[in-house]
Amino acid sequence: MPERVYNFSAGPSMLPLSALERAGAEITNYRGSGMSVMEMSHRSPIFQEIFDQAQDKLRRVLSIPAGYKLLFLQTGATGQFSMVPLNLMGEAGRADYAVTGNFSQLACQEARKYGAVHIAASSEDRDYRYIPAQDQLELDPGASYFYYCANNTIYGTEWNYVPETGSVPLVCDMSSNILSTPVDVSKYGLIFAGAQKNMAPAGLTVVILREGLAGRHLPCTPLMMEYQTMIQKDSMYNTPPCWCIYMLSLTLDWVEENGGLAGMERLRRQRSGLLYEALDSSRLFQCHAEPAARSSMNVTFRTGKPELDAQFIAQAAQAGLLNLKGHRKTGGMRASIYNAMPLEGVEKLRDFIRAFEKANL
Ligand SMILES: *Cc1c(COP(=O)(O)O)cnc(C)c1O
Repeated sequence: MPERVYNFSAGPSMLPLSALERAGAEITNYRGSGMSVMEMSHRSPIFQEIFDQAQDKLRRVLSIPAGYKLLFLQTGATGQFSMVPLNLMGEAGRADYAVTGNFSQLACQEARKYGAVHIAASSEDRDYRYIPAQDQLELDPGASYFYYCANNTIYGTEWNYVPETGSVPLVCDMSSNILSTPVDVSKYGLIFAGAQKNMAPAGLTVVILREGLAGRHLPCTPLMMEYQTMIQKDSMYNTPPCWCIYMLSLTLDWVEENGGLAGMERLRRQRSGLLYEALDSSRLFQCHAEPAARSSMNVTFRTGKPELDAQFIAQAAQAGLLNLKGHRKTGGMRASIYNAMPLEGVEKLRDFIRAFEKANL
């Protein structure tokens, strides 16, 4: 095995090598403290500085405007499927959901426990291969919020526009494309993302919330699931995921050194362009997503023959290109090409796709 492989896993996934190396160098003695970040009290000044720096960097990189709270929580993106309706369903008691894949479907099901959920759009009719257009959204002007998932990790589709919902707050799951492209945070009521796709190890969930949306939680809301509690305690009502917050800070250094979100956008266009070009010019492979809805983060494709797909995945692994097996809902292959995937990894995969086609057509 080579020292580092190209890991195309959908998550947890690759982290920038510079962040891993820095963490390695500091692992037993963080900057002269004589301890690891894993061993520090979360109430100590030295950890508070790590926490504050991570928050400052994320605010800077995402250009989070004044008037928004930034929370570092746990329970994954899935925890937000409950936390969002518990906190935001509010007096109207009803919400709009766009169902464009597995994770928005799960979020929608969970929300039904707490209010009246209206499916404002769904792409289930064509096996989640597309994203509904703005004029296909059936909007309820009295909804407490409109929910969607910006990038559908399993199906490999991505919204290429921000829904226009008037005065209804937008809530967005950005778990698998946050930090990959510039975002106008001011258009959103709430953005959340699990860290393990594009930010840090699993265990940290980032929430960006417009002030004023908190404090309207249902009376049954568990204390740990109130945004209000976490805002008042600056994400430290209990012990936060300290190590993940530190790793996020190191990842953000790498993002800033590589041109911030404009740099990440350039890189993601290059990476996904290489793969879609190879797949479009192929007679062996087909993409799952329709062209207008293609994700820049998760490229889903197949030959149509399960045995041949299995061979592709096994042979690619031997060539150091790992975890290309698609999700069981789609079958085939999925190449997750998040921020930290080096361009060379994608070039190697592109070459492998071409060579495999030659050998198998
Ligand atoms: C991975 C993922 C989730 C689930 O994240 P957890 O942190 O495992 O709960 C939710 N939404 C999207 C878009 C994802 O990619």
